[in-house]
Amino acid sequence: MNDAAATSPEPLSSEHAQKIRDRLDAVAGQAAEAAERSGRTADDVRIMLATKTQPVEKIRVAIEHGFTLIGENRVQELTGKADGLADLEHETHLIGPLQRNKVNHTLRVDSCTCIESVDNLPLAEKLHNRLEVLDRSIDILVQVNTSREDSKFGTAPEAAAELIESLACFDRLRIRGLMTIGLPGESDEVIRPSYADLRQLRDRLIDDGTLPADATELSMGMSADFALAIEEGATIVRIGSSVFGARPPAGSPA
Ligand SMILES: *Cc1c(COP(=O)(O)O)cnc(C)c1O
Repeated sequence: MNDAAATSPEPLSSEHAQKIRDRLDAVAGQAAEAAERSGRTADDVRIMLATKTQPVEKIRVAIEHGFTLIGENRVQELTGKADGLADLEHETHLIGPLQRNKVNHTLRVDSCTCIESVDNLPLAEKLHNRLEVLDRSIDILVQVNTSREDSKFGTAPEAAAELIESLACFDRLRIRGLMTIGLPGESDEVIRPSYADLRQLRDRLIDDGTLPADATELSMGMSADFALAIEEGATIVRIGSSVFGARPPAGSPA
């Protein structure tokens, strides 16, 4: 486990900080070009930093450089880094699987504004019930497994409509759109249709009234394929390694 990543006050060299800023600018430039190719502008696409295993010192550099949307995979990292980022204005989305017994911890983090990984009813119910107690709401995305591989996470595209319909009674959850995770290492020819599928699913579900008309978010695309995802309509891309460099393998010192 990388608890050390969340807590170690490793000082960051100014060269390293500059490298992070340069990479952020490069990603933003490529994202803007891709947005234009899709008939949109840079403002239509938010760049989220996928910060799993990254220490707060690096994340702070990115936030201070104006990249204020953070994505965390694990509740443990979400809560572990919250204090170290609390003085900087930012938003955090949970982008990894959420177990029901971690819902209370997750909702305790003030910066956490959206759960992108809602893919089952019991989780939604648990979230709703807890939010009811707290007397607040939260944004969610419904995670769909459009790559149709044996990933355990995300609802099957065929099952998305039924799931979304049954979420309607949980009025503490504001559905903002859909999320998918592309398979790492797949070729563009395989990845592109899985992103196009998510866009078409969103359009269909809005057209037939299953999704609210404003549930237009499409969170899809990572370092290797974000330009392509933006061409296919992504409104949020989740970027990790191309900004922060390769992640340390789990269990190694940060
Ligand atoms: C790690 C991660 C990313 C970013 O992946 P990179 O290839 O490092 O950009 C995006 N989305 C999710 C859900 C992730 O876990």
